[in-house]
Amino acid sequence: MLDPKRTVAELRELQELTGDEDGAQRVAWTDTWVEAQEWMAGKLDGIEMEFDEARNQWWTVPGESERTLVIGGHLDSVPNGGWLDGSLNVVAGSEVLRRIAEDGRPPVTVRLVSWADEEGARFGRSLFGSSAAGGSMADQHELRERKDADGTSLPEAIGAHGVDLDRATGARRQLENAAAYLELHIEQGPVLESMDLPLGVVLGTFGVERHLVTFRGQASHAGSTPMDQRRDALAAAGLLALELYDIAERGGGVCTMGSVVTKPGIVTSVVETAECLLDQRNLEADRLASMLESAKTAAARFAEERNVEVDWERIWNIEPILFDEELIELADESIREVTGTSHRLPSGPLHDAAEVSRAGIPTVMLFVQSLRGLSHTKLEDTKEEHLELSVQALDRLADRTIAWVSA
Ligand SMILES: [Zn+2]
Repeated sequence: MLDPKRTVAELRELQELTGDEDGAQRVAWTDTWVEAQEWMAGKLDGIEMEFDEARNQWWTVPGESERTLVIGGHLDSVPNGGWLDGSLNVVAGSEVLRRIAEDGRPPVTVRLVSWADEEGARFGRSLFGSSAAGGSMADQHELRERKDADGTSLPEAIGAHGVDLDRATGARRQLENAAAYLELHIEQGPVLESMDLPLGVVLGTFGVERHLVTFRGQASHAGSTPMDQRRDALAAAGLLALELYDIAERGGGVCTMGSVVTKPGIVTSVVETAECLLDQRNLEADRLASMLESAKTAAARFAEERNVEVDWERIWNIEPILFDEELIELADESIREVTGTSHRLPSGPLHDAAEVSRAGIPTVMLFVQSLRGLSHTKLEDTKEEHLELSVQALDRLADRTIAWVSA
């Protein structure tokens, strides 16, 4: 029988085992992470378990058909992380998997996966295991060059856990029979709490455009340069920072100027260069493109007004990933069955579900409310009653999805 209270108790146990007074310490490719994997294996004793070539951990309940429902999450955390980010998905998924196994042979195969290194906390490379399985892990050369803060290379660190970078993409075969993918996650934002709703359905993950925008003016003496004769790079950057609020609102997305580095960076000089890091996100590709276009137009205008130059360099981008419409419906129904009301929202952060969806497997996510919208901190929290509801909703959704896959 499904026991959502057990999920909460197990999450507390995991936190006790792998966290300290600063929060969760299950950073991927560390002994604590392995300890968490072994702990999880112990909880699912009797269900077939294997590690794939990327050290994703899989449990399988064979069904009448090889077509497979996959439920996923990640046990790794950021350093000083929260007790729920990623681990809720796996521990709640294990509860659902146990319930399905108890009920006898399901019509389709059901698998739980704990993806390796979702957070990328140690090497700055998120979604390691899910990208290996999903097929987007392309640039092995770039991965080979990565080092952690202590100078240990990524191949060395993963090699210590039996993973060979050249063979990691062998994980792809794990998704060969996958017909649907479900992931429960804490929201990590304030939307559901502000609406007083425990659960929501995720429509997809935002596309991201990340750029370095550099304004170049002229350094000159802060005392002797009249205000109307300055070529102040920061003045132009500041105007763009404010304009982003309008651009985001018009585009229905979010824009963040997360960093501005000024040079020469002294109080006695007008700013010569302002290097701005700009992050723009939207659920719709054409709106993301037009937000970027608007920012470029605005930057050019402000540069002209302030008599400075501006140039753009793309750092990184990813297209929006939209989840499966039919699974979104099923998720809505499951949440309404459990709580009465559902809500649909996009995800700002990326998740393993995005990699699976990109691989062409029908995918949906459930979000459960985060208190104060906080995550990646030990302050991350969700009401226990909401955690229990989330396990029930995932369970209801798993049953609906099994019926959908076997139809
Ligand atoms: Zn996560």
